[in-house]
Amino acid sequence: MGNANLYSLLESGFPGDRSAIAIETPQNTYTWNDIDQQSARYANLFKGLNLEAGSRIAVQVEKSPEALMLYLAALRSGLIYLPLNTAYREAEVAYFLNDAEPAVVVCSGANLSWVESLARKAGCAQVYTLEADGGGSLSELAQSQPSGFATVESRGDDLAAILYTSGTTGRSKGAMLSHSNLGANALTLKQYWGWRGDDVLLHMLPIFHVHGLFVASHGALLAGAKTIWLPKFDLEQALHYLPQSTMMMGVPTYYVRLLADERFTRDLCGRMRLFISGSAPLLTETFASFQERTGHTILERYGMSETVMLTSNPYDEHDGERIGGTVGRALPGVSVRVVDDAGKPLAAGEIGNVQVRGPNVFSGYWRMPEKTREEFTPDGWFKTGDVGRLGAALSDDGKPVQNIPDDYLSIVGRSKDLIISGGFNIYPKEIEMVIDDMPGVAESAVIGVPHPDFGEAVVAVVVPRPGQQVDAAAMQARLKSLVANFKVPKHIALVEQLPRNTMGKVQKNVLRNDYKGLWQSVSDAG
Ligand code: AMP
Repeated sequence: MGNANLYSLLESGFPGDRSAIAIETPQNTYTWNDIDQQSARYANLFKGLNLEAGSRIAVQVEKSPEALMLYLAALRSGLIYLPLNTAYREAEVAYFLNDAEPAVVVCSGANLSWVESLARKAGCAQVYTLEADGGGSLSELAQSQPSGFATVESRGDDLAAILYTSGTTGRSKGAMLSHSNLGANALTLKQYWGWRGDDVLLHMLPIFHVHGLFVASHGALLAGAKTIWLPKFDLEQALHYLPQSTMMMGVPTYYVRLLADERFTRDLCGRMRLFISGSAPLLTETFASFQERTGHTILERYGMSETVMLTSNPYDEHDGERIGGTVGRALPGVSVRVVDDAGKPLAAGEIGNVQVRGPNVFSGYWRMPEKTREEFTPDGWFKTGDVGRLGAALSDDGKPVQNIPDDYLSIVGRSKDLIISGGFNIYPKEIEMVIDDMPGVAESAVIGVPHPDFGEAVVAVVVPRPGQQVDAAAMQARLKSLVANFKVPKHIALVEQLPRNTMGKVQKNVLRNDYKGLWQSVSDAG
């Protein structure tokens, strides 16, 4: 059997001509040779440290081509890569370092003093810096290292990375992903999305997350395709580079921002082959406006840190239509089912818990055997924590309201977002979709907040379209005619924008906190 190291797999996709450009940034270009040689230098540096097999390397640095090469070096050296969100502050980083006990920590020079002291407390003596421009102690030391390195032999189940879940409540958990979890998914996506050597990927996502680090970067590397590598989403740069690109991956916010600019036209997308969206739900309205403006149908897919990609709308039109509001079918090799709270599989149209199985699904949470056991069924299905439905929603008389094949999944929300009001279950997404369809509404978020009578009360936070008036009372009255009374928000707040994290996810925990006193204060006052 060959080497199961993920780098060996990715390298097998590099083009024959290694002097071709692999990465272009606004300042520089990097060839495939550069990627191979620079990752080899870092790997040689790590080899010189004589670390134990399976040692962790924690990295909190700005996105740069060097940072990608550092990730590849970790793979090549058999180290377990632990990317950290650049937004994490001291208390958060302290938790990750204490939990993962890395042997090496890489940070930006600006954070060195506090990161170094945290690292030391966590028992880590090797702390280096890497800057956005590629400078720093790590790259300086690597300069004198040999540019050749024999990638270490890895087994498929050796760990390649630990991704800490963004966990908005409770302790963040480290999802352990193996070389074969990541490799299997990369191969599947290469095939399913038709990656080609002449693709040009517009890469604007952060690389501390599954979307930018695995889905996007692995895709381009394995296809031997060029990447336009930008530090983050920037409208001007996106407009500048789109005409040269054939692929773009984004969170829904990127597409909303592109559409908000008149310069984003069909002509600009002349070379584009595929726009992909994920990490958060894409509004059907964005999906439709995008189609109208560009002639392109965004392909929405669904996945998570623990599993990489799970489902995708079809790429090939012979495989079916891309349907807005759905996340498509289980990818080849992946199984998806929707079950009730007792674990019984539900029929199409019914809403329940999404469970998955496949070669891409992680082996468990780092040093949390109990939690791992809880999150898997005895027969090996992973409980995603997402609530969803296969096929179309059903009307009161049991008929599907839309023409959606029974194997297409729609995500309705997170199980922890479920609102229970007066004993009734309310799925926020259902109400959000109704509200979003109302005139003058740009988007909305529905949450549950403590209520003295109902346990929880439904609250809708609504963003009106710029320049448009929305009347909360009229909206409430209209909702009463559209959904069951217990689902109608007891309070509608109008705001200019919803709080979002870097991956475009609406921070419902922030909203729940903002509105938690709505009834509390009334009862206190009374
Ligand atoms: P993360 O582990 O940070 O990637 O977050 C994974 C979660 O993001 C999933 O469990 C879903 O709740 C959500 N998610 C990812 N893709 C989509 C999508 N296309 N539509 C709706 N939710 C999504």
